[in-house]
Amino acid sequence: MSTSPSVIDTRRDQMFPVLEPFEIERLRRFGKVRRYDAAAALAKVGELGIGLILILSGQVEISRRDGLGHSTQIVTYGPGSFMGELAQLSGRPTLIDAYARTPAEALIISPDQLRALLIAEAELGERIMRALILRRVGLLETGAGGPVIVGRAGNGDVLRLEGFLRRNGHPRQRLDPDTDPEAKALIERFHVDPGELPIVLCPGGELLRNPSENELARCIGLVGPIDPNRVYDVAIVGAGPAGLATAVYAGSEGLTTLLLDCRAFGGQAGASARIENYLGFPTGITGMALMARAYNQARKFGVETAIPDEVIGLEAASGSGSGRFVLKLATNERVIARSVVIASGARYRQLAVDGLESFEAASVHYWASPLEAKLCAGQEVALVGAGNSAGQAAVYLASQVSKVWLLVREHVALPRRPHCGPLECGGVGEDHHHGRRRPRWDAGSNPVATRYWRGGASSNPTSVPVHRGGSQHGLALRLRRSLGRQGIRIDGCGRGRGPILSGDKPGGRVCYR
Ligand SMILES: Cc1cc2nc3c(=O)[nH]c(=O)nc-3n(C[C@H](O)[C@H](O)[C@H](O)COP(=O)(O)OP(=O)(O)OC[C@H]3O[C@@H](n4cnc5c(N)ncnc54)[C@H](O)[C@@H]3O)c2cc1C
Repeated sequence: MSTSPSVIDTRRDQMFPVLEPFEIERLRRFGKVRRYDAAAALAKVGELGIGLILILSGQVEISRRDGLGHSTQIVTYGPGSFMGELAQLSGRPTLIDAYARTPAEALIISPDQLRALLIAEAELGERIMRALILRRVGLLETGAGGPVIVGRAGNGDVLRLEGFLRRNGHPRQRLDPDTDPEAKALIERFHVDPGELPIVLCPGGELLRNPSENELARCIGLVGPIDPNRVYDVAIVGAGPAGLATAVYAGSEGLTTLLLDCRAFGGQAGASARIENYLGFPTGITGMALMARAYNQARKFGVETAIPDEVIGLEAASGSGSGRFVLKLATNERVIARSVVIASGARYRQLAVDGLESFEAASVHYWASPLEAKLCAGQEVALVGAGNSAGQAAVYLASQVSKVWLLVREHVALPRRPHCGPLECGGVGEDHHHGRRRPRWDAGSNPVATRYWRGGASSNPTSVPVHRGGSQHGLALRLRRSLGRQGIRIDGCGRGRGPILSGDKPGGRVCYR
């Protein structure tokens, strides 16, 4: 369990600012006044939000509710406080409950007026935006307002759904059917066979049996229907860094913009444990944090999003719509736009290893986020490849797992220590594969492979405890750059001809051969 303090404790003042009377007056032009009787609901989990609600008089009780209906009070708002979090920027379903404790009067600022306010009122807008973001962070910490996933931690479908929600910055909870009495109660109540797990309980009470990401997204209101007659100025395919940058600039120029992605915002960059080379972040930033900033910035400028929605076709509109484009979606919907920007990025290259698919999502992953790190905590992990992503993953995982193996296919020259010699492919599985170019991945063996060989040679891999490093020596340029930037250095040669790496993750071990 995380021991880091909650954002509610550390940044309470920024999360729940109270506006001064003169500031409230400045905001009046953006909203409409509404009155509520005592005990009336201002917002309910799962219902579409009406926007930002600024309390003018009376008191309003805010509580979070988990998918099982347990309610916990977060805060009581009085005059000058405002209700809302990021969902209010685009009128998405609300993640909290709000009830008037006394008769109350409030200024309702609709999502489009809220976006106008954020741009027109620079200083106030910055404080409000920061509060909305921090409140979402608080909900993410507790999982409140999001769906409940019932399933085992290592199950591939559980990981798929958890990963999808995490990448989309949406709160969630997971209950283990083996240990959690509430999970057991849910399984009995809904007559769920073990083979139907995971199940997902949405905040609105709907139950989904092992849903697709699209089904889940629609159930929790992440994505809705697209107006087939609306003509967008710009439609952007892909919400990675390129698509998000396009969205921010198009939105800020006042163009009507739709941003589509078949998975989540952030693209590959969202999977990065730490981005060190992005302009303006001298201490580095996690890919997810960077991409979430860009995503919220795009929404602030009124960019509409359709995530997850896959684009499967593009054609020029005919007849009266000529000069426009039609995007066809996997849902059979269509999007009309005057211009289309395709920012669909790159596809991951997969390992040419037989039987790989049966391990994917459960024990073969294509990035190392906190979710994967938790999954293999205390175990040995093999990283295949030695580029930038592997360097990041090695450093990140070294502090979480018992040992990290780096498997490198190509010959790696060691300029400073030529006697270390070239390195060859590491194979995985219980069978030795002398001379075979395609190592066998034995689907019947333990899914977390425990033995690794150098192709054609048998030597014990070298490992050393990782400690804070000093100057950097060189591996091949690519490996040296990616590891060196992360604080890992090469100390010398190991018994198995591989160099010994050391870095700045106390307690972790990085092995290289
Ligand atoms: C683990 C990792 C760490 C990295 N670290 C760094 C780093 O530290 N520094 C650095 O500079 N670079 C880093 N990179 C590389 C960087 O992330 C990529 O160069 C960058 O993300 C490319 O941006 P993009 O927007 O062009 O494409 P992508 O990020 O690939 O985004 C493309 C998006 O398009 C979507 N898409 C594709 N097809 C469709 C379709 N048909 N319909 C709808 N949506 C679609 C995808 O789902 C995806 O979200 C890293 C990459 C990884 C994987």
